[in-house]
Amino acid sequence: MIIFKTLAYRDLDHVFYDLDKAEKEDRLDIAKEEISKQLVTVKLPYTFYNMVKGKLKPVNYLRANIHIAYAVIDALKEIYETYGPEKIKEQGLDREFGGSFCFRKTRNKKWWSVHAWGAAVDIWCDKGRMGKKPTIPEFCIQAFKKRGFCWGGDFRNPDGMHFSCCFG
Ligand SMILES: [Zn+2]
Repeated sequence: MIIFKTLAYRDLDHVFYDLDKAEKEDRLDIAKEEISKQLVTVKLPYTFYNMVKGKLKPVNYLRANIHIAYAVIDALKEIYETYGPEKIKEQGLDREFGGSFCFRKTRNKKWWSVHAWGAAVDIWCDKGRMGKKPTIPEFCIQAFKKRGFCWGGDFRNPDGMHFSCCFG
């Protein structure tokens, strides 16, 4: 099993890159480039489908920070091997993969989103919308938690699709 070290949000600046400092010094373009070097593209163990303009679009790859990328794959592999392809389809566990790297701040604009470092991933978006009670199976949540992920469904304002390298 691939397990990574769960971090604290305040650690992300020195483990990955200090984005607040880069912003103050007006060099976010360099920061983004440096973080890109920490990202890897990995193949998903099974195909996800996203609804895009009324059509199902297959998703086969994840681009995320190397700190979490292989643990995501490992968790999804366990889920796929446990459920099998039919049950995955039946339960909609192949639906709505939100991805990881997104160079942005959180909704309140106060902090950098963990997605800015590619160190969080959004999966099963339709079953874990922000502010709504998540309907993701407990087995799937545990598959991620035991590998080091913090789950957004545990946040005060639940964000069920969000699996992060830190609590945040
Ligand atoms: Zn997220």
